Amino acid sequence: MSNSKLVNYTDLTTHYGSRNGTKIDRITLHHMAGNLAVEACGNVFKTREASSNYGIDNDERVGLYVDESNRAWSTANPSNDRRAVNIELANDSGAPDWHVSDKVINKCIELCADICKRNGILKLSYDGTENGNLTVHNMFISTTCPGPYLQSKLSYIADEVNKKLENSDDRTPPVEGITATIQNTLNSRYGYNIVVDNIYGPDTHKHMVKALQHEFNIQLGSKIAEDGIFGPRTKSSCPVLRSGMKGNITWLVQSMLVIKGYKLDKYGMDSVYGNETINAIKKFQSTAKLSVDGLCGKNTFEKLFS
Ligand SMILES: [Zn+2]
Repeated sequence: MSNSKLVNYTDLTTHYGSRNGTKIDRITLHHMAGNLAVEACGNVFKTREASSNYGIDNDERVGLYVDESNRAWSTANPSNDRRAVNIELANDSGAPDWHVSDKVINKCIELCADICKRNGILKLSYDGTENGNLTVHNMFISTTCPGPYLQSKLSYIADEVNKKLENSDDRTPPVEGITATIQNTLNSRYGYNIVVDNIYGPDTHKHMVKALQHEFNIQLGSKIAEDGIFGPRTKSSCPVLRSGMKGNITWLVQSMLVIKGYKLDKYGMDSVYGNETINAIKKFQSTAKLSVDGLCGKNTFEKLFS
């Protein structure tokens, strides 16, 4: 179990208990009944027989007072506190409204979404009773906490947290770039599991050779090991690619040219062995000190893939 990465201040109190193995499945909100900084809130939990897991102040800082893995002494209801992560929000005005600033509420939404994600809570629901998994102090004992203003914002907070949970789905944005395109194609075409990181490393290289060997086997009946190592048997299996040929072998050659910095600006990796590819092969052959004929034969394959 972990604590939130949003924490900027930690001052653990000894005022806590055990969750007794209970899984976290809810969040309970409180107001501080004052405009306390995270430090001052921490001090309260050292003197008073009370605590919360987190506190948020008007500088948008998050304090940690009780590890999430432990039960805070927050609601005077042990069964709630064993299940809940308790959060104290600073006010920016006093009674009777006990107003809470948008800054603090927004930080609270962020923190709640983070708690939900890390604890596998799929949705926050607030229905005004402890049947929901967003609860407040006055559901358990007679108290003004969380104050009328925060009370009026609970549905809003649950809705905003749920939007974050729906939109976040931990998919990191797709990695883009020509090498990523090649990695994706290798994975989908050959069923590989190359990490798509747009970096041409040893694993991607090995799979380029494997794919080539696979194509030789299925197209040319080569019967070579698909081991990702360009050895003598792979070399002797190489066909000669010439103008007008097309297919996956040409695509692999084109990909290798692009990876090595030979641009195919007009047609890209179109799997057709046309003039643009031939010119790139000629440049490569010249650099690699091979005979410059624009054909992709055994020696050119070898220099490209090993
Ligand atoms: Zn409270």
